[in-house]
Formats: sequence, C-alpha cells, structure tokens
Amino acid sequence: MKCDVLTLFPEIITAYLNESILKRARAANLLEVNIHNIRDFTSDPHRSVDDYPFGGGAGMVLKPEPLFSAMDFLEKDGEPRRVILLTPQGRPFHQALAEEYAGETRRFVFICGRYEGVDERVKTLVDDEISIGDYVMTGGELAALVIMDAVTRLVPGALGDERSVEDESFSWGIFDYPHYTRPREFRGLHVPPVLVSGDHKEIAYWRRKQALIKTLELRPDLVEKMELTDIDRKILSEITKKAGEDA
Ligand code: SAM
Repeated sequence: MKCDVLTLFPEIITAYLNESILKRARAANLLEVNIHNIRDFTSDPHRSVDDYPFGGGAGMVLKPEPLFSAMDFLEKDGEPRRVILLTPQGRPFHQALAEEYAGETRRFVFICGRYEGVDERVKTLVDDEISIGDYVMTGGELAALVIMDAVTRLVPGALGDERSVEDESFSWGIFDYPHYTRPREFRGLHVPPVLVSGDHKEIAYWRRKQALIKTLELRPDLVEKMELTDIDRKILSEITKKAGEDA
C-alpha cells in the first residue's frame, strides 16, 4: 500500500506508524507513507489554512488553495492516485472496502479535514468520501490511520501468520471466535475443554458455533447477510432449539 497523507498534524500520523506491525510493514516496503503538512502549500505570509464560512455560522473551514496546491504537487510525478477524503458524511468504511483497497494498484492520497471540514470545492479532487463511523471527530487523521492499518494487515507478508487474516472477524462474514491462551485455569475461570481435546474437527465446530452465537447476540444483521453453509444451518438450529428450551 502506497499513500500520501495531507494533514495539519503530521506527528499524529508519524507516532502511530512508528510502532508495531505498521512500523515493520514500512521497513519491509509493504507500506509506504509520505506525510505532507497542508500548511507547506500555503502562499500567503501568514500561512493560513482556514477561513470563516461564507454565509456565517460557527467554526472555520479549510481553504481550497492549499489542498489544490498540494494535489498539483503530488500529481507532478504522474503516478496514478486514488484520492480519499475523510469525512463523517462519507461512505462507511468496512472490511469489504479494506479488501478492495488492499488490491488497489494506485497510490492513495488521504485528505484529513479539521475544524468544520474542507471547502466543498475540494471534493472535485476526490475519488472516495469515506467515514469510519457515525460520529464526529476533531480531525481526519485517526480515520486515515484506521484505513491504513486495516488495509496494511491484509497485504501479504504484513502479519507474521497469514491465517490471522483468514480467521478473524468479518473475513467470514461474522465475528471471530473466542481466543484463550495459558494458563488453563485462571482465578477459577477455565479454558473450554474442547480446545485442549486435540480433536480438530470438534474445535472447528465449537469455534464456528461460538462465533455465530456472539454475532447473533450483538450483530444479527451480519448473520442475516451471510451465506450459510450446511454446518451453519445445523449450528443455528441447535442454537434456536436451546433458546426454546431455556425460555
Ligand atoms: N462539520 C463536519 C460535519 O458535521 O460533517 C464535521 C467536521 S469534523 C469536526 C473535522 C474533520 O474530522 C472532518 O473534515 C473529517 O476529516 C474528520 N472526521 C470527523 N469525523 C469523521 C468520521 N467519522 N470519519 C472520517 N473522518 C472524520
């Protein structure tokens, strides 16, 4: 994944990229991120990036000129780019989009808004308007990091064990199954015996069942949308029967 990030707060991005898996992915050239301070593309003596909104109202708006100048600068190298504007008004980001982005051959540009957001004309530069959830944050930096993180871990080689990606939440339409590690008993809490039984078929069945139970409880919409296997149907009828008995 190759990215340019346009931000007023480069250090927010740097701090996160310099830790753990993303740090290693950068060292291995699986993730390349160039961070650009929007203020460096201003042309007035005050290096102003924001101004009052036409028509009045609270807050300031990010001016179009520095963002257009930044894009002119980036486009000089002729490399094709996919430009993402982070905004609470955008299309929701989810795992399927992370997978699509992981297969993207173009370079990404993330435009991080601040204050009341960007001047509407900036949207003429943009391919996708993306939101990371139905809430409003103070800036787009965390949203850009969320996307870079979720996409990078799908890039082959970024994680130590590729099976981590295959098994986890959403990759099979529902939540991940519960995980346990040593010790087998902790403060009276025991690891489910099936996990130490050595019976891999039973373990796989138990995990699928637990994943379905948890998803049904917290996100039934995901179960409604998923393509059920015969085993899923069997598990779901067991869950329904048990719920009927318990009622
Ligand atoms: N006035 C805007 C609105 O009501 O839609 C909110 C602007 S917000 C305070 C400032 C910036 O934070 C936005 O321009 C955007 O870049 C970023 N931001 C805030 N919440 C976001 C979200 N849920 N997803 C993506 N970006 C977000």
